[in-house]
Amino acid sequence: MFIMYAIGKAYGIPFIVNTIGKAYDNVFTAGMKKVPVCSMDKEKYMINFNEMKGFISDMDGVLYHGNTLLPGVKEFVQWLQEEGKEYLFLTNNSGLTRRELKQKLERMGLDVPEERFYTSALATAAFLKEQSPGCSVYAIGEAGLLNALYDAGITMNDVNPDYVVVGEGRTYSLETVTRATNLVLNGAKLIGANTDVSGPTEDGISPACGALIAPIEIATGQKAYFCGKPNPLMMRKGLRILNCHSGEAVMIGDRMDTDVISGLESGMSTVLVLSGISDEETVKQYAYRPSIVLNGVGDIVKKAKEDLG
Ligand SMILES: [Mg+2]
Repeated sequence: MFIMYAIGKAYGIPFIVNTIGKAYDNVFTAGMKKVPVCSMDKEKYMINFNEMKGFISDMDGVLYHGNTLLPGVKEFVQWLQEEGKEYLFLTNNSGLTRRELKQKLERMGLDVPEERFYTSALATAAFLKEQSPGCSVYAIGEAGLLNALYDAGITMNDVNPDYVVVGEGRTYSLETVTRATNLVLNGAKLIGANTDVSGPTEDGISPACGALIAPIEIATGQKAYFCGKPNPLMMRKGLRILNCHSGEAVMIGDRMDTDVISGLESGMSTVLVLSGISDEETVKQYAYRPSIVLNGVGDIVKKAKEDLG
């Protein structure tokens, strides 16, 4: 992988090779790499975290990389709990249930109750329940998605469903995609859990929902509707769960194109952390900016304590 990255750099092939290389670099080394302490000093602080009531935080690249907890996360979670903040950990990964996410953090030494997690699968199930209570779906996905749909009173139907719903998962195959394609052509509406085209795995990068649903979109000519980030619906639902107004809530994430944009469009303050996929240069590529750029969530605690004096 490193060789591909090096070749990409040497020959100025900026896209696929370097993207894969960068992703590789981020996935496997960001937990260890030193991010310069710059934004805390340079940026004018635009958020007083002590005054904020609600915190919605992305997980991958913010709390952990793979199975490695990032620096400062323990202190951040402890601060949220001790200060009595309302908080929600959000992921676009539709495969895991709340219980599995709780257990994942438990293995890293964090005790976070199940109700503090929210996934694109739950957002999708909530969306379908509101749009069409008691509807039926043909679903391609893992336990996280299937359980969320069942819990929302949605039934499985592979003959004439109201919707075809796609998430990430091992049940994905030519057979399931072919069935989904024909069901959409017969009138089922196409829903995706999230637009992410790839995600980190232990083995490297794996195609995610946005990429997996593309063959169905192309074969049917139908565009899917996506419920996860950056759809602000997911953020608004999160705010309702926390019983917070957007003006008193913060969205924390490592991606400009999902986390920061969805927080911004929901009226929340936004924090871009450099512990994941983004670096300081990333911000310059977008027409919008986060309220503040920090090295990691540990800086939130430091800044909150500084502001108290
Ligand atoms: Mg992330």
